[in-house]
Amino acid sequence: MTEFTKELIEEQKKLAEGISSLPWVACSCGKCGMIDNEIDLIATATHGKWGDDYPSLKRVGGSIGGKFELIMDQITYGEVSLEAGNANAKWISAACSNYSAALDALEDLTEERDYLDERLAEFENMAREFVSYAAPDHIIRWHFEFMLKEKETK
Ligand SMILES: [Zn+2]
Repeated sequence: MTEFTKELIEEQKKLAEGISSLPWVACSCGKCGMIDNEIDLIATATHGKWGDDYPSLKRVGGSIGGKFELIMDQITYGEVSLEAGNANAKWISAACSNYSAALDALEDLTEERDYLDERLAEFENMAREFVSYAAPDHIIRWHFEFMLKEKETK
């Protein structure tokens, strides 16, 4: 699983520089799998048979007076159903259109978490200091045991 460190978030945000303008939208015709914005064709999600296409000669007609026709042939490696191809197109366009905003949100949450972690550490230190000034050892022990019991009953 990808760990979204601050460095990775920065790198990912840089990748968005120079891309065709968002949002990217999957065509709704259900046949072509094309993804575009208002100006550019971005991509076409594969559907049907896929593999290496190559030109080939095919004999048409008999051995006398027959002809050769140039056709495109394919070494097929797999096949994507039309439904999956359209679902892929929708997923790609939605993911790409929302990714920058998701990175911003993730960055905000990471900063908020770091801030709260620091405040919590300060608070724990303050509480420890306060308890150590205010009470002798056996009272501190009793207090922490009481707090643990409280926590368990919740
Ligand atoms: Zn279409």
